[in-house]
Amino acid sequence: MNLSNAVKYYAGAGMFGKPLLHLQKLQNLKKIDALARKNDPHLSPPLKANARMSQLLSEQYLKGRFTEGVRKVAWHSSGAPIEILQALDFFLYTPDNHAAMCGARKLGAEYSEIAENKGYSRDICSYARTDIGSFLSGKTPVGRLPKPDLIVVSNNICQTILHWYQAMGVYYDAPVFVIDTPFLYGDARPHDIAFVKNQLEELIPVAEKISGKRFSRKRFNQVVKRGKDCSDLWCEVLYRAKYKPAPLSGFDAFILMGPVVALRGEAASVDFYHEVLKEIDDRIEKGIGVVKNERHRILWDNLPIWYRLSWFSKQLAELGIVVAISNYTYQWAEPAQYMDMERPMEGVAKTYLHSILNRSAGYKLGHMEKMVDEFSLDGVLFHSDRSCKPYSLGQMDQSKSMLDNLGIPCLTIESDHNDSRIFSEGQILTRLQAFGEMLG
Ligand code: SF4
Repeated sequence: MNLSNAVKYYAGAGMFGKPLLHLQKLQNLKKIDALARKNDPHLSPPLKANARMSQLLSEQYLKGRFTEGVRKVAWHSSGAPIEILQALDFFLYTPDNHAAMCGARKLGAEYSEIAENKGYSRDICSYARTDIGSFLSGKTPVGRLPKPDLIVVSNNICQTILHWYQAMGVYYDAPVFVIDTPFLYGDARPHDIAFVKNQLEELIPVAEKISGKRFSRKRFNQVVKRGKDCSDLWCEVLYRAKYKPAPLSGFDAFILMGPVVALRGEAASVDFYHEVLKEIDDRIEKGIGVVKNERHRILWDNLPIWYRLSWFSKQLAELGIVVAISNYTYQWAEPAQYMDMERPMEGVAKTYLHSILNRSAGYKLGHMEKMVDEFSLDGVLFHSDRSCKPYSLGQMDQSKSMLDNLGIPCLTIESDHNDSRIFSEGQILTRLQAFGEMLG
């Protein structure tokens, strides 16, 4: 460990950083109180947990600025198994999460354009373009990103991510470890699970060598258990939207999912979701709905449109529509059922194999139909996401089937999760209003 870096790490991220972030949290809480006093006729004020969420993630980014020479850094894709890395005390950084944050701060188009000017096609995922543009320009809203000592990526969400992370591996001259997950047409077969489990076992000596630490099964089991607790709690949070009126919306969930994506397995994330549940239960007890005049409940399919979250939330609330659930946020809840504390390594293999994007379009349809029933939904909003092809594939057929099988109206809007140049406000607003009329 480099002593001067260690001093910077503990002073910068701990002694000085923590009080500053606490102050920032108090300011955010004040803003939420001010919104409550304004008393919007359609929307309840945001959950106070949002302030804690941004404190948690900011803390992680702050540590990342000072971590070089103190802890080894592993970059990982949002769907990659992180448990082995956590057990070896790597500092974790999730580029997808950074890209989403840049999108929410309306920086996605600017950073994407930087990548495009260097030859990256506009057809590539806008998360990838945002992140690559951020790297090429050195621009990031978090000040500085930690350099990777190891990159772990899984193709359980798409193929693009492999090429994106491989490019970063070249830029940073860092080794890239790929976890290859066979695509599932049904449930995982024993040889699928064994194939992924073997790769996890192969990751251990690689990660040990880079971290300079011995892998401990005991520590690994603890991390797996906390990751499972975190995902189970996240599932409970999402399920609270079954209440009428829904105490939280899909838009709240898009924000609150940060820790389960980037920091699952951390004690602070488990505590955080306990806090979230407490606040939501208080809303349920008082009969507070996120949409004040909830008349219709819908499912949001696909990624959020990060740079327009509050716009959508407001427009839909004016129509009395609440997005009760989204299958995007649910993907960090559902696979936790495969975590097996009797056979943790196998459980980890199963969990990451069953990611929704690693499963067939038919599975996704069945899953959505089940949600319509469980969450008492009246319609589905399909976001046809220009640069996330795997998520958008099959939406036209799925929309037709939902109408034919369940008789519920569906709306498809075309946009992009991070690239605001694709967004057409007038066109989308007209379609939302027509959808509101269809719902009655
Ligand atoms: S293409 Fe879709 S699944 Fe792949 S990284 Fe981009 S947003 Fe994620």
